[in-house]
Amino acid sequence: MAIDVHVHMRGGEEGEAILKAMDEVGLERVVLFAVPPHRAMREGKKPPKDAHRQSIDDIARVVAPDTERLIGFAWVEPPLPDAVEGLDYALGEKGLKGVKMIPNHWYPADERAQACYKKVEEYGRPMLFHTGILWGLSDTSQYCRPAFFEIMLHYPGIRFAMAHMSWPWTDECMAVNGKFKENQEGEWTSYVDITSGAPRIWKVEALRKALCYLGDKHLVYGSDCNLPRGADYAALRLREDTEMLREAGASDETVERVMGKNALRWLGIE
Ligand SMILES: [Zn+2]
Repeated sequence: MAIDVHVHMRGGEEGEAILKAMDEVGLERVVLFAVPPHRAMREGKKPPKDAHRQSIDDIARVVAPDTERLIGFAWVEPPLPDAVEGLDYALGEKGLKGVKMIPNHWYPADERAQACYKKVEEYGRPMLFHTGILWGLSDTSQYCRPAFFEIMLHYPGIRFAMAHMSWPWTDECMAVNGKFKENQEGEWTSYVDITSGAPRIWKVEALRKALCYLGDKHLVYGSDCNLPRGADYAALRLREDTEMLREAGASDETVERVMGKNALRWLGIE
C-alpha cells in the first residue's frame, strides 16, 4: 500500500468517497491539498477577507471521516492579509497536518512568506512547495526555481518537499537537496516529491541521479491527481512511477521507501 503526497481538492469533495477510491487504487494514505484560497484572485476577482478560513474549513470537513488516512494540508498564499492568521487556524484549531504553497509572483524568500514559515516552524509541521515550471498562473515559473528554496536552511524545524523534482531544473533540485544533506546536522530537512511533470525520458534519468546522489530516504511519491474523480489517473501514476523507479535501478526496499515509508518520516508520523 502506497502513500500519495500530492492530491488536489477542487472543492465539494467528500472524504468517504475519497477513502473508497483509495481502497480501489491501493493507497494507504493521501495528502490532500485544500482549494487555493486565492482562487478568486486567479479568476480576476478580489479574494474574500476570510479566503483562508473558507479553504481551511473545507479541507477540514473533507478529512474529518478519517484524519489518519486523509492528511489535510492547508494551502496558504502569503501575500493575502490573513495568511499567518490562517496558519494558526489551520494548524492549531483545525489540526491540519501541513502546508502547501506555490510561489506565485512572490519569491520563496519574500518577507511575507518568511512570516508564514516562522509560524509553521512553531507548529513543527511539514510543507510542500510547487517547484519547477508551472503551466498555469501565467509567467510564474521563474519564482519556482529550486535554488530559491535555500531560504529553508534558515528554518531547520520545517521538513519540506520540492514538488515535481523541480522539472525541468531537476539537476538544480538535486544540487539544492545535496546542499541540505551536507550542511544540516543530523537528519536533513529537504525532500524531493517525485510527482510527475517531467516526461518519462527525463524522469527516469532524474530518478536515477537522485537515487545515486541523495540515496533513497528523501524521495516521496505523489500523483497530482484529484480524488475521487481522478482515481484512474491515480492508479496509472502508481503503476508507471513504480515502473520508472525500477527502470532507474530501485530495489524492492527502495520502492517501498519512496512509495510510502519516506512520506511517514516527512509527515512526522514515524
Ligand atoms: Zn500539484
